[in-house]
Amino acid sequence: MHLPKAELHLHIEGTLEPELAFELAARNAVVLPYSTTEELRRAYLFDDLQSFLDLYYALMAVLRTEDDFDRLADAYLARAAAQGVRHAEIFFDPQAHTARGVDIGTVVEGLARALDRSEERHGISTQLIMCFLRDRSAESALATLEAAGPYLHRIAGVGLDSAEVGHPPSKFREVYEAAAALGLRKVAHAGEEGPPAYIWEALDVLGVERVDHGLRSMEDPELVKRLVRDRVPLTLCPLSNVRLRAIDVLEDHPLRQMMEAGLLVTVNSDDPAYFGGYVGDTFHAVREALGLGQEQLRELARNSFRAAFLDHDEERRAAYLAEVDAYVF
Ligand SMILES: [Zn+2]
Repeated sequence: MHLPKAELHLHIEGTLEPELAFELAARNAVVLPYSTTEELRRAYLFDDLQSFLDLYYALMAVLRTEDDFDRLADAYLARAAAQGVRHAEIFFDPQAHTARGVDIGTVVEGLARALDRSEERHGISTQLIMCFLRDRSAESALATLEAAGPYLHRIAGVGLDSAEVGHPPSKFREVYEAAAALGLRKVAHAGEEGPPAYIWEALDVLGVERVDHGLRSMEDPELVKRLVRDRVPLTLCPLSNVRLRAIDVLEDHPLRQMMEAGLLVTVNSDDPAYFGGYVGDTFHAVREALGLGQEQLRELARNSFRAAFLDHDEERRAAYLAEVDAYVF
């Protein structure tokens, strides 16, 4: 049995395994530029951000119908459940789908179908977070928020992802103000490749409640003080950091120092089909590489529930925390 945990930084498009990509390609008569799952799996061994993004966007072509998004999310939830996930806040990128002619309603309704069955089938409570692609315009983000209007009852919050450098959070001030006015929660990727200044902007300009990654916050002691003071959660993704070369080897990851500095850090899988593991695998990898003890792992699991958007259901949060406390390694 795995340590119970929440996953708070997970892109559903990044859970597309080669086998499912081929299955959906066949169903939708999409021709992939790979002849076998083995060949495709080898393509997953990319070595930089651009080759990852090229493959990532190319494979999305197989996602066309509500059924496809349902299938994708259900496959993730099954894997997550097998690794101890009890609560998942799932990112999706509507612009990556609308840009190739798939309606946002198809995406949200398909994902929602899998999420609606999740508690019963997988024992995982869920929420959806709609991300804007930061390398597209602020106007495109605003249009996306508008297009999501009929589906807002399905969406808990907004986020910001994709290529970070050159696209500071402040570019999206207006759309975050509009999202807040609609009652949506706010998170953003910041400080993955971008500088600590981007994390300050995410906090002060966008008003985010959680920072996704925040890896580079340790470069700025004033920022660390602020994040500790306000108990701002950081959703770290250690395996992703290694695969995308934000750090050289997992042994160099600052996770332990961040915990010791009093930061509210969580461990997540980001794009698990591409980065070498789901969240249970990630816990295992950091335990081995960083020599974390059982109490540190338990604290990371507690943090994941503390940082979850469960304010509307504190009883549930307390129940999950009790599961963590009762867990026997
Ligand atoms: Zn991410």
